[in-house]
Amino acid sequence: MIYGAGMSGLIAACNLASEGYDVLVREKESSWGGSSVFNPSLHTTPLDVPATSEYIGIDVSHAFKDVSTLSIYLHDYKIPAPVFMAYHVERSSRPSSLDALLYDKCVQAGVKFEFNTALRKQDLESLPEGTIIACGLNQAAYDDLGIPYKEWCAWMARGEAEHDNDAWIWMDECINEYGYISYCNGMYYNLLFAYGQEVTRDDLDKYQAFMKRVEGVEEDNWEYVRGAAPVVSPDNPQLVRDGFIMCGTMSGCLDPFMGFGISGSLVSGKVAAIAVSDPARAQEEFERFTRNYAKVYNFKQEVWYPLRARVDILEDLANILGPERTIKLFIEGLRKGRKHSAIPGFGVLSCN
Ligand SMILES: Cc1cc2nc3c(=O)[nH]c(=O)nc-3n(C[C@H](O)[C@H](O)[C@H](O)COP(=O)(O)OP(=O)(O)OC[C@H]3O[C@@H](n4cnc5c(N)ncnc54)[C@H](O)[C@@H]3O)c2cc1C
Repeated sequence: MIYGAGMSGLIAACNLASEGYDVLVREKESSWGGSSVFNPSLHTTPLDVPATSEYIGIDVSHAFKDVSTLSIYLHDYKIPAPVFMAYHVERSSRPSSLDALLYDKCVQAGVKFEFNTALRKQDLESLPEGTIIACGLNQAAYDDLGIPYKEWCAWMARGEAEHDNDAWIWMDECINEYGYISYCNGMYYNLLFAYGQEVTRDDLDKYQAFMKRVEGVEEDNWEYVRGAAPVVSPDNPQLVRDGFIMCGTMSGCLDPFMGFGISGSLVSGKVAAIAVSDPARAQEEFERFTRNYAKVYNFKQEVWYPLRARVDILEDLANILGPERTIKLFIEGLRKGRKHSAIPGFGVLSCN
């Protein structure tokens, strides 16, 4: 039994059904396609698609679209970042989404689904050990299972767009994380988010002014959303809690630096499936994928956040180095990181 028909739950389900298990997936929404609050959404992620597909036993390449341009902005200062092994992916129930690809695979493998069925705290006592819990970035589930988390707040906007495959990231002192936009599959998705602090209307005004001034983009359909993520301590990642198998972002298999959760959730779905028949091997695999989490978490707290609070210093530094040297440093960092990464395709600043 698996709770959550998101990406990691579907990968676990498909793998187990292919091994001959009878698999039932229970999902709180009325359909597959992930959270109805955040989806349809577009996410951007570093990934080695062939290596990941091979590991999880499912070819996910059709759902991942190359990022063609990625601009990193420190205020208005633009660093045209090199893009290799970076992709957009759509989360929704539309045919172009990753969820549609995974759901089809599950149906072919014989997985059964019960929709409109949420995991509740009172159900936990009667659930069999080994139940897989894959409820994503869900505060209630974290509370019920005692998973430490950080709250985040965001302004979110999305809609149709004519062009595809561009992305930007924007940093400014007004928020401790960043604003980003992805264009893919005929839509755009824009998110301005921060951990542990409200993102005020003034912050949004500043972001919108930047968008208009620098990128010539205007949007007026902003919604305020809240969420939670298991990035509150260096030892957040945990495969098994109270006898249940944690899967996807709930397990803490994500990058605590940028918040990339796609690649960790992909491999974590496979690890959860392994945990059903071979817990010891699954634990080894889980530790392999999360081995740099604490190091990256500590780096973010001790080095990055103090620097990040002074975007002007980062901007000055990039100015002194010039775009060419900044990009060269960036590429060297990525190459070095990817050589040492456990999750295929990840970068130097990512835990994986
Ligand atoms: C707004 C937003 C933007 C993001 N941007 C990026 C990005 O650009 N790049 C990146 O790499 N990562 C990004 N992430 C993170 C990434 O999307 C997640 O880490 C990843 O989707 C998690 O996959 P999952 O399988 O753990 O959960 P999900 O795919 O979210 O699936 C969880 C499923 O569980 C269901 N569920 C929840 N509670 C219950 C319950 N009680 N009972 C039953 N079912 C339940 C949900 O409805 C959902 O279908 C973003 C996340 C959010 C929310």
